Amino acid sequence: TKGAAMVTAVASRVQAQRKQIDEVLALFRLTLEQLVGVQDRMRAELEFGLKKKTHPLATVKMLPTYVCGMPDGTEKGKFLALDLGGTNFRVLLVKIRSGRRSVRMYNKIFAIPLEIMQGTGEELFDHIVQCIADFLEYMGLKGARLPLGFTFSFPCRQASIDKGTLIGWTKGFKATDCEGEDVVDMLREAIKRRNEFDLDIVAVVNDTVGTMMTCGYEDPNCEIGLIAGTGSNMCYMEEMRNIELVEGDEGKMCINTEWGGFGDNGCLDDIRTQYDKEVDEGSLNPGKQRYEKMTSGMYLGEIVRQILIGLTKQGLLFRGQISERLRTRGIFETKFLSQIESDRLALLQVRRILQQLGLDSTCEDSIVVKEVCGVVSRRAAQLCGAGLAAIVEKRREDQGLERLRITVGVDGTLYKLHPHFSRILQETVKELAPRCEVTFMLSEDGSGKGAALITAVAKRLQQPRKE
Ligand code: BGC
Ligand code: MG
Repeated sequence: TKGAAMVTAVASRVQAQRKQIDEVLALFRLTLEQLVGVQDRMRAELEFGLKKKTHPLATVKMLPTYVCGMPDGTEKGKFLALDLGGTNFRVLLVKIRSGRRSVRMYNKIFAIPLEIMQGTGEELFDHIVQCIADFLEYMGLKGARLPLGFTFSFPCRQASIDKGTLIGWTKGFKATDCEGEDVVDMLREAIKRRNEFDLDIVAVVNDTVGTMMTCGYEDPNCEIGLIAGTGSNMCYMEEMRNIELVEGDEGKMCINTEWGGFGDNGCLDDIRTQYDKEVDEGSLNPGKQRYEKMTSGMYLGEIVRQILIGLTKQGLLFRGQISERLRTRGIFETKFLSQIESDRLALLQVRRILQQLGLDSTCEDSIVVKEVCGVVSRRAAQLCGAGLAAIVEKRREDQGLERLRITVGVDGTLYKLHPHFSRILQETVKELAPRCEVTFMLSEDGSGKGAALITAVAKRLQQPRKE
C-alpha cells in the first residue's frame, strides 16, 4: 500500500542519514595499529629534539629547563608565584615550611582581558605588574622584596633557570613584541616602569615542570609532568648524557618537551581530518601546535563545532539550519563538553545544555551531538596516551629495565573535569606500554606550588656561592 511504501521510504532515508553520520564519526576512531604508529613517531621526534644536529628543525622542541633536582624537604621561606597561561591568571603567596613538607598558599585570580592577551607586550606585562601590585597591597607585603617564581606556560628557550626566551605564543595569546624576547627581562622592565616595589625573580618555570615538582615533593618516583588543559604538554627527567644541548653527562635534567608541536612537520597528516584542518586554519597560530589542537581543551570544542557545522550542511542535524550561534568560535568550552558527556545526564538535559548554548535541538540531534563529543574526546585521550606511552617506554629502555615504575604528575581542566578523558588516557598507556607501571597523581595547584618549590631549590643552591 501507499502508507507502507512511505514508511519504508522514511526508514531508508533515516538509514542513509545514519550511514553518513557514521562515516564522519569513523574518521575519529583510531585503530590500535594507528595508535602504535603515533607512539613510534612521537618516540622518533623526542630523539630528534634531543640531538644537536636535528634539534634546530625538531617540532617537539625538547627544551632544557635547568631544573635538575627535586626538593629535598629542607626548603623553606615565603615566595611569590605567578601563573600565566592556563585557564586563569593568578598571583600567589606560598609559604613553605621545612621538615614537615607543608605548604600554605594564598592566591588571587585576575582576569586578562582579550585585548590585553592580544595587545602589545608592554601592555600585557604592565597589566601583570598591576595585578602583582594589587595582590601585594591586599596581602600587606608591598615593602618585602620576595623571591618570585614565574610559571609561564609557553615554549621558552632557557640558558639558565632565571632566563626564558619566548619561542612563540600558543593558545589564546598573541601579544606583540614578545617572541624572541626574555620574559624575565620583560617582567623586570615592567616592574621598573611602575617603580613601586621590587622583586627578586629567581625562576621561570613551565606549568608541566611545576606540576612534576609539586607531585615530586610527595612522591620521589614522579619524573613526568603532564598538562591536559587549555593546552597540552609534557615534561620529564632525562639523563644529562642524552641532552646534547647542555654540557655534562652526570645526573638528570628536566626537559620541557613542548609536544604540542608534534605533527607540525606533517607526520600526523594521515590521521588529521578536514575538521582538524579547519580548526587549525581558524586559530591564532595556523600550522603550529597540531597535536595540541587534537588533544587539548581549547580546541576540542572547536573540532566538535566544525563537525556539527559539517553535519548540518549535509542536512543531518539541526534541520539543516546553521545558526549564528553555531558559527560562533569558542562556544563549546571544556566544561560544556564534560557536561554533555556525563553518563548521568539524560538526553533531555543534553538538550537543555545545547539550549543554553543557543542551539535548538531535537532529541535525535542531541544523540548525535553527544556521539560527536564522544569520538572527539576519546581520540584526544588516546593520542595523549600514545604520547605518554612513548616517553615511559623511552625511560624504561634508557635505564635498561625489564619493568619500569614511574609516577606522572597531572594537572589541567580536561583531565580533571572531563568524565572519560583520564580513564581512556590511562587505558591507552597501559595497552601501549605494558611493561611500565604508571601511576597518575593529580597535582593540587602545581603551577603555583611548583614554581615556589623550584624557586626555593634555586635559592638554596644559590646560597653557597654567595658565602
Ligand atoms: C604550551 C606549553 C604549556 C601547555 C599547557 C602549551 O600551549 O606551549 O608550554 O605547557 O600549553 O599549558
Ligand atoms: Mg595551569
